[in-house]
Amino acid sequence: MPFSQVREEIRAIQSELVALRHDLHKHPELGFEEVRTQQVIRAWLESRGYTPKDSAGTGLYADLKPTHGSGPMVALRADIDCLPMHELTDLPYRSVHAGRAHKCGHDGHTAILLGTAAILARHKDELPGNVRLLFQPAEEGVRGGGARVMVAEGALEGVSEVYGLHNWPAWPLGDVRVKAGAMMAQVHAFEIELIGKGGHGSQPQLCRDPIVAASHLVTALQTVVSRGFGYEGGAVLSVCSFQAGTTNNVIPERAKLSGTIRSFEPRATARVLERFRQVLSGVSASFGVEVNETIEVGYPVLMNDSGCAEVVRRVAIEAFGAERVSEADLPMAGGEDFAYFAQARPSAYFFLGAKRGEEDTPVCHHPDFDFDDRLIPVGIELFSRIVWDRLSGRPLVGP
Ligand SMILES: [Zn+2]
Ligand SMILES: [Zn+2]
Repeated sequence: MPFSQVREEIRAIQSELVALRHDLHKHPELGFEEVRTQQVIRAWLESRGYTPKDSAGTGLYADLKPTHGSGPMVALRADIDCLPMHELTDLPYRSVHAGRAHKCGHDGHTAILLGTAAILARHKDELPGNVRLLFQPAEEGVRGGGARVMVAEGALEGVSEVYGLHNWPAWPLGDVRVKAGAMMAQVHAFEIELIGKGGHGSQPQLCRDPIVAASHLVTALQTVVSRGFGYEGGAVLSVCSFQAGTTNNVIPERAKLSGTIRSFEPRATARVLERFRQVLSGVSASFGVEVNETIEVGYPVLMNDSGCAEVVRRVAIEAFGAERVSEADLPMAGGEDFAYFAQARPSAYFFLGAKRGEEDTPVCHHPDFDFDDRLIPVGIELFSRIVWDRLSGRPLVGP
């Protein structure tokens, strides 16, 4: 594939892709509810000669069949769902649905993969192998795990390698970040309920105050990592909600905390969970309150194959120069269900920086976040170069 020509071709469809991205942004859909999104993707693919198949209910995948050759099959993945949150921007294409918004940029990832589909279709005679495009529903949150469903339904049958990307506004626009091994965290979400004895605010001696116990618990939980590990760290524990009481003169009966634990390898996960439970039972005994926890096990650690990570690194350097490519600040402590694709096949997941100059660009999941459309051509070129690299027989070797 001549990439100077590919750049021209990408430029020619950029405005169409931006319009499509804004349309998806305006009509966001939650995990496993992406019915309209699925239709938009299907229509685009069919108009470029693909025959998409539905997968995981509201997802789909499509194969580019080369006109000659039967080499390996490389898969590219985009996530397509939105988040259950309100949009606070005044963008002309802001969400028309209260409580639903594309605040992680999956609208942009979808536009990138659709643009890649259009470019690859123009060059299919030159490709000595196969490409599968995976449009995955339900990446976000507790209702997520669309990747697991697609793998279970056989969406990777015949696939040799999988690649995926995510925009990330903390890092400079267009920078590519990738590393071999652990790339993103295993996430455990916890809820803790403390049950004491409520009463009049003037009579603490007759109560067992769950607010005081919960306050100590929040503080004690800060030591799970800081005192449970040495300099190597290995986990992040954050309490992200604290709820108790309704008025200023009643000691309530209950308090509730919730948060997440993030870790990158099984021994650290076991250690942090063990310390977490010890702290809970200690606070329970100290304050005479009942402490009940529920822990939800999230996506596994996203492990990049070293050979596939090297593919991303080398094509990114060829495209944009070595100064734009690094593994700084990785692994990242977010969770990502691409981990299921990476468990099933050698894979690599990478980030595209999206920080605008010196500006404090809103990060993913912030109510003011919006995907930066300038990443659309960057993502398409990288995906196209990855496909070319893999199908033109370059070796898969670690760095
Ligand atoms: Zn997200
Ligand atoms: Zn995301």
